[in-house]
Amino acid sequence: MNKKIRFFQSIHFKIALVFILLLLVTVEIIGAYFVRSLEQQNIETFKTSINIDPYLQEKLASDLLSEDADTANASMKTTISQADVANTATVTVVDAKGTVRANSNLNNQNDVGQKSASSNVKSVLYNGQLFEGYEYGASTGSQYTKIIPIKNPNATGDGNAVIGVVAITASMESVYANINKIVKIFLIASLVAGLLGTLISIVISRAITRPIDEMKKQAIRMARGDYSGQVRIYGQDELGQLAVAVNNLSVRVEEAQEASEAERRRLDSVLAHMTDGVIATDRRGNVIIINETALDFLNTRNEDVIGVSILKLLTIDKDYTLRDLLETQKELLLDFSEQLDHELILRVDFSLIQRETGFISGLVAVLHDVTEQQKNERERREFVSNVSHELRTPLTSMRSYIEALSDGAWQDPAIAPQFLKVTQEETDRMIRMINDLLSLSRMDSGTSTIELETINLNEFFNYILDRFDMMLKTDNEHASSDNNTRHTPGLLPGSEKKHYTIRREITKRDLWVEIDQDKFMQVVDNIMNNAIKYSPDGGVITARLLETHNHVILSITDQGLGIPRQDINKVFDRFYRVDKARSRQQGGTGLGLAISKEVVEALGGRIWVDSQEGKGSTFYISLPYSPITDAGGDWDEA
Ligand code: ADP
Repeated sequence: MNKKIRFFQSIHFKIALVFILLLLVTVEIIGAYFVRSLEQQNIETFKTSINIDPYLQEKLASDLLSEDADTANASMKTTISQADVANTATVTVVDAKGTVRANSNLNNQNDVGQKSASSNVKSVLYNGQLFEGYEYGASTGSQYTKIIPIKNPNATGDGNAVIGVVAITASMESVYANINKIVKIFLIASLVAGLLGTLISIVISRAITRPIDEMKKQAIRMARGDYSGQVRIYGQDELGQLAVAVNNLSVRVEEAQEASEAERRRLDSVLAHMTDGVIATDRRGNVIIINETALDFLNTRNEDVIGVSILKLLTIDKDYTLRDLLETQKELLLDFSEQLDHELILRVDFSLIQRETGFISGLVAVLHDVTEQQKNERERREFVSNVSHELRTPLTSMRSYIEALSDGAWQDPAIAPQFLKVTQEETDRMIRMINDLLSLSRMDSGTSTIELETINLNEFFNYILDRFDMMLKTDNEHASSDNNTRHTPGLLPGSEKKHYTIRREITKRDLWVEIDQDKFMQVVDNIMNNAIKYSPDGGVITARLLETHNHVILSITDQGLGIPRQDINKVFDRFYRVDKARSRQQGGTGLGLAISKEVVEALGGRIWVDSQEGKGSTFYISLPYSPITDAGGDWDEA
C-alpha cells in the first residue's frame, strides 16, 4: 500500500518541472523576439549609416564632369574622406567608363585608374539604379555593399545621365560582434534566471507538497489504526482546509472505530457468556463465528473450525444438505455421546441471516444442551413402565391364587390358608411399594418437609440397632406382623428364619447432628434390612460410627453376596435391583435405596457403597458435622 514514490514520479518533481519549463519557454520566446528585433535594428542603423550626403554627391558629380582628371581625382579623394561612413568602410568612385577614380582605402591605391572588376558596379552604371547587397568573403567576412549612381545634374530628358557611381563596402563584422555580445549576455541572464527559477520552483513546490505529504502519512497511520497524529496546518488556503478536514476525519474515524470496537466487544461478551452455543456461518455454510460454549460442546478449538462447513462440524453432512437447513430451518436433536465419550444431546435451532432485500447472507445455529432434559424424559418413561410392571407382577400372581381359591381351593384346608397368606403378602408388598412411591414423589415435588432436630447420633444409632437386636429375640413371635411401612424394622417375608449378629464399633463421643429423625431412621432401617436380606444365615453385620473433623460417617457392613462392580453405582436408582427375581421374592421393591439417597442428600449428606462380590457390602452415610457448635444450647432451643 505504502509504496515508496520515486522522485521523478512525485508531484514535487512535476510541479518544479512545470515551473522550470514554463520559465524557460517564456524566457526563450521573449529572448528570441528581443534578440531578433535588436539584430534588425542594428543592421538597419548600420545600413543608414552607410551613405554619402547629397551635397558630397553633387561635389563628386562636378568632379567627374571635370576635364582635368588628376585634379578631379584628388578632389574626389578629399570628398570621400569627408563622407560620414563607418571608418571600416571603403568608398570607391567609378566613372561612367568603369574606371576607378578614387579610393578611400589608403593602403590600397593601386586600383585607381584601373577598370572596376565588380559586375554590380557595371550594372548600376548601366541602369542607374541604387544597389544594395551582402557578400561573404573568406578573408573579409560578411560585407555590405551599397552602390549609389551619380547623375549629371545638367542632363535633361530621359537619356542615361549616369556619370559614375560611388561604391561603399563595409564590413558587418562589428555589427555581428555586437549582436553576439548581446546574445551572450542574454544567454547568461537566462541561465541565471533558469537556475534561480529552478531554486524558487523547488522551494514553492516543496511548500505545496509538504502538507500533502503529511496528509498522506496521516492517512497511512489511520489505515494502520494509529489515530494519535495530527497534520500540521501551514496556512488558511485550500491545503490548510484540507489538513483541518483530515484532522477532523481522523478524530471521527477514531470515534467510529472505538464505537464499533465497543460494539464488537459487547457482542463478544454476550456470545461468550451465553449458556447456549452459537455458530454463525456465511452464505456457503462455512463457520465465521463460534462462541466458547459451542466450542466446549463440540470439544474443539476456534482455529480448527473457522471456515469449516457447519454440516461437517455438526456431523450431519450425510443426512442433510445446506439447502435442507436453509429451506426448512427446522430444529435438530443431535446426539454427540458417541463422539465425545460423555453424554451430550444438543437441540440445534437454525435461523437465517437475511437482508431486507431477502438475500440470505448466512445461517445462525443455536446449540442448546438438552442432555438433562432428555435423560429426565427417558427416566420418566422408564419409571412409568417400571411402576406398571412392578404392580402387574403381584397383581397377576394374586389373581391366579384368587382364581384357584374361587375354583374350589377355598374349601381345601391344606392349601387355602397358604394361598391367602401369599395374597396377603403380595398386597403388603404393593402397599409398601405405593408408600415408597408416594414418599419419593413427595420428595421429588418438594412437598415432603424435613423436620430438622439436633440429636445425638451416637445415641440414636444405638437405639435403632437395639430394635434390630430385640427383633432377633422375638422374631418367631413377631415375624412379619407389622411391616407395612419401612419405619418398622423387622424380618421381611422370605427371611424369617435367618439369624445374624450385629457388631457395634461406635465412638464413645456424643455426636450432635441436625437430622429428621423419622426419615433418617427409615434410611438406616432400610440399609439394615438389606444387610439382613442379602446376608447368609448366621452372618455378622458390623455397624460403625465415627467422626472426622467436619463429618460423621455411619457404615453398615454385611457378609452377603455383594454387588457386582458394574451395578455398584446403579443400586441407588429407582427400581434397580441386581437380581430382580430374588429381590422380589424377598419382598423388595427396588425403591429403598433410592429413597435413602434422596433423604441423605436432603440432609446435606452423601450415601455410597463399597462392595466385593461374594464377600459383602458396606453402605456408608456421611453427614455434615461441626464439633465446635455448642450442642447443648441447640438442644435447649430444639
Ligand atoms: P430392594 O427393596 O430390592 O432391597 P433397594 O433399593 O433397597 O431395593 O436395593 C436395591 C438393590 O441393591 C437390591 O435389589 C439389591 O440387589 C442391592 N442391594 C442392596 N443392599 C444390598 C446388600 N447389602 N448386599 C447386596 N446387594 C444389595
